[in-house]
Amino acid sequence: MTGPPFFHMPARRLDGARVAAAIRAELMPMVAAFQARRGRAPALDIVLAGDDTASQVYVRNKERAGSETGLTVTVHRLPADTSRDDLLRLIERLNGSPDCDGILVQSPLPAAMGKAAAQVVFDAIDPRKDVDGFHPHNVGLLAQGRPALTPCTPSGVMELLDREGLAIAGRHAVVIGRSEIVGRPMAALLLQRDATVTICHSKTQHLARMAATADILVAAIGRPGFVTPEFVKPGATVVDVGINRLDTRDAVISFFGADSPRVAEFDRKGSTLIGDVHPGVETVAGALTPVPGGVGPLTIAMLLKNTLRAAEGLTPHS
Ligand code: NAP
Repeated sequence: MTGPPFFHMPARRLDGARVAAAIRAELMPMVAAFQARRGRAPALDIVLAGDDTASQVYVRNKERAGSETGLTVTVHRLPADTSRDDLLRLIERLNGSPDCDGILVQSPLPAAMGKAAAQVVFDAIDPRKDVDGFHPHNVGLLAQGRPALTPCTPSGVMELLDREGLAIAGRHAVVIGRSEIVGRPMAALLLQRDATVTICHSKTQHLARMAATADILVAAIGRPGFVTPEFVKPGATVVDVGINRLDTRDAVISFFGADSPRVAEFDRKGSTLIGDVHPGVETVAGALTPVPGGVGPLTIAMLLKNTLRAAEGLTPHS
């Protein structure tokens, strides 16, 4: 095909950290009003079983963000050899406690609990306290288009698209990834808002070609820099959910180039984060979420929002 060369401005940066801060600021007076009305703050109970390093960081961030927003956050730290039954007994106690509004069990659970443990544990949480939105009751409501408590990461993406003024209705959205945590609920929320939705996964054929038909492309794969410019229609909105750690200097240079500040960051810290989207996509996309500072902070903001919703007893979403 001939024609004039396509010149493109670098993609607009979708600042998830800024939007997350705005959501948290909006929640604070609502949390204070709840406290004034009910004589206690909305309460989030986080269960952390085992000593997974990343989980400890995630839980600390959730605890800090919750406390700063005025919630009562209690972290239940359980040793890695805790039995599944003991964990289920704790869930049962929290389900019955009038002082607990939201329950979050941090994944992954210790391997010793067995493969099916996560499903059994998530199923045991009272759906009204299920601030992660993983209980089949809440998954079912979402599938029916009656969302109540919805998974935090995809809800955060919806907030970001809305607050950045990006249209969803009638647009073609392609979601790469079909996990229960991100891909599936992401597709359901986009469909709920009248996008035309395609879900792709590891068996999808002609993936790049399929992705390149998207007006909104969501990557939730877990593979560093997988989505290269050929996956992206010029001007498309690209949401990068992936969080991957690069821990060799060569890898950092191969993705970001030798002159990138990421190389200096690697030299300082021994690693740097990259999403599922290749940095080169910036020259093709119309708008793009950075990693870090994109979807990650929104996930925590939506957890706080879900906790307030659960405390208020509000379902489904208004
Ligand atoms: P997951 O459960 O491992 O699911 C990955 C999905 O990607 C699967 O559906 C898989 O397809 C698909 N996939 C894998 N390789 C593929 C390939 N070569 N081509 C096409 N599809 C492929 O991961 P997840 O929990 O959804 O997380 C995805 C990423 O998001 C990870 O990097 C994770 O760290 C990150 N994450 C970020 C946040 C946040 O707050 N920003 C929250 C949650 C997760 P199959 O189903 O066919 O196997």
